[in-house]
Amino acid sequence: MDILFIGPPGSGKGTQAVKLAERKKLKHLSTGDLFRKHLKEKSSLGQQVQLYIDKGELVPDRLTNDMVEVFLKELSLEEKIIFDGFPRNLFQASALDQMLKQAGRQLAHVFYFEIADDQVVDRLTGRLWAPKSGCIYHIRNKPPQKAGICDQSGEALIVRSDDKEEIVRSRLKVFHENTKPLIDYYEKKGLLNRISAETSPETVFQSLLKALEGKSG
Ligand code: AMP
Repeated sequence: MDILFIGPPGSGKGTQAVKLAERKKLKHLSTGDLFRKHLKEKSSLGQQVQLYIDKGELVPDRLTNDMVEVFLKELSLEEKIIFDGFPRNLFQASALDQMLKQAGRQLAHVFYFEIADDQVVDRLTGRLWAPKSGCIYHIRNKPPQKAGICDQSGEALIVRSDDKEEIVRSRLKVFHENTKPLIDYYEKKGLLNRISAETSPETVFQSLLKALEGKSG
């Protein structure tokens, strides 16, 4: 059975999704990562979505849903998925319901990563990114050994353009206005689990494992 992560930017859900996918042998669908891949490759989709991502706005639903549909079609039913960053609004949630139904799939758990806005701003505006190695650092919480340089690849670290404070604040606004209604949506379906994302990554991971324990899938 499939799993879905909801949370504001900077809640750590992406990191947890990678870890959980590895531990439980799941396929990880991060729509943010997929869009960034298209941007890097300068594909036609990449060119269409660049402006939205730069501004911290949601990419139009049609483009997003089509991309997810392509991803789903490439998987067999035995391969289970973690949806990370999709759906981001009620329209996408209902499109996902349709896609899952058509594919004979079912959501088993929805995890909501709870974190205060101020913590998000602190985390994201201090985040440093190594585009080639994919390593992520933080100016205060996880600095690289040599300032501005990736420990692994030696490349220069950058601030992701959508991690600038003004953009982070608009991404948070988008989360509150568009994505938060999903909490109610999945709560009514009896699928929602709340996880405090303000604790350490290891504590969050243990909470996830505990919530998954004893349930099939
Ligand atoms: P993320 O890395 O998940 O924060 O996503 C980065 C950016 O990609 C977002 O700010 C949006 O512009 C876009 N994006 C990612 N997922 C979606 C989605 N499900 N719907 C619309 N836009 C998305």
